[in-house]
Amino acid sequence: MEYEKKQVDFSKTAQSQEWSLWKYIDSLPFEEDDVWREITLGEGNTPLIKISENLLAKAEYYMPTLSFKDRGSVILVAMAKKLGIDRVVADSSGNAGTSIAAFGARAGIQCDIFVPESTSEKKLKQIAAHGATVHKIPGNREDTARAAMAMVEETNSFYASHIYNPLFWEGTKTYVYEIYEQLKGILPEAFIIPVGNGTLLIGAYIAFQELMSSGQIQEMPKILAVQAGACAPISKAFEEGKTTVEPVENKGTIAEGIAIAAPARGSEILEAIRATGGDIIAVSEESILQARNELASKGVYVEITTGANYAAYLQYIEKYPELSEQKVVFPLCGAGIKSN
Ligand SMILES: *Cc1c(COP(=O)(O)O)cnc(C)c1O
Repeated sequence: MEYEKKQVDFSKTAQSQEWSLWKYIDSLPFEEDDVWREITLGEGNTPLIKISENLLAKAEYYMPTLSFKDRGSVILVAMAKKLGIDRVVADSSGNAGTSIAAFGARAGIQCDIFVPESTSEKKLKQIAAHGATVHKIPGNREDTARAAMAMVEETNSFYASHIYNPLFWEGTKTYVYEIYEQLKGILPEAFIIPVGNGTLLIGAYIAFQELMSSGQIQEMPKILAVQAGACAPISKAFEEGKTTVEPVENKGTIAEGIAIAAPARGSEILEAIRATGGDIIAVSEESILQARNELASKGVYVEITTGANYAAYLQYIEKYPELSEQKVVFPLCGAGIKSN
């Protein structure tokens, strides 16, 4: 979908009385007075928390449904509403489904949410609470996606996919805009970003490109990505110097939010990481749990998947000792109470 993207005037947004990502309306595919006003739950506008001298965490668990997915889903659902759609189908490992269900409820749109059978009970309850129909699918995440797509075809419904629909990234890019504004017109040297399907990563990369082309930054920050070692197709392809990603077998990881064995956007993710001079590593199951506990000991309670992000930082500063002298931001993608 084409629309006119205007450059964000950060001197204006810094004064904005709109306490949500909608302060960046100039760069979003909606008008000032539009359907989003009926649907918004105040998503975005999340704090940056100091973890150590040069390390900041962006607390995405402050979101209405407790994960960063709200940035993308609000855009998708608002657009569905604008197009007059009354029923959507989505598939998810949990958090995207929760988010679509919440905004769907706001918009009066019936949602069918497909999730793997193994999804955390708490996320399932959250989805059902909003009145969405939950379809628990046996097998892996890819089986879930296939079941959702089959329903899309059979019923000719709107596929509110955070993976295939590029509108989702228009929302996730605001993650970077907010950091730029919070740091008063600069970006950190590096962004640690978890990758399953890459919706945060691709959104961040789009924001980097927009800020470059408007001259608001002169250099792209590095994307330092992370996957769970037990399911790391992109990190494998990166290490092998490939430009496309072969599916792997998910050996079973506690990081359910990034357990994507066959990412549909693999090539784009590799390209974004390489274009920023970045890197991608895989972290162990043990280090994920350890990092989650360490964050909790600092007052920060995240869902298990998010332990991987801090584990990655600790591994990256071993790999690149100079990184500990540089400003780095990592996301607290999901709230602790989402995990069983
Ligand atoms: C969705 C999600 C991710 C990863 O996002 P992708 O878009 O799949 O790369 C990471 N952590 C949590 C908690 C998530 O919900």
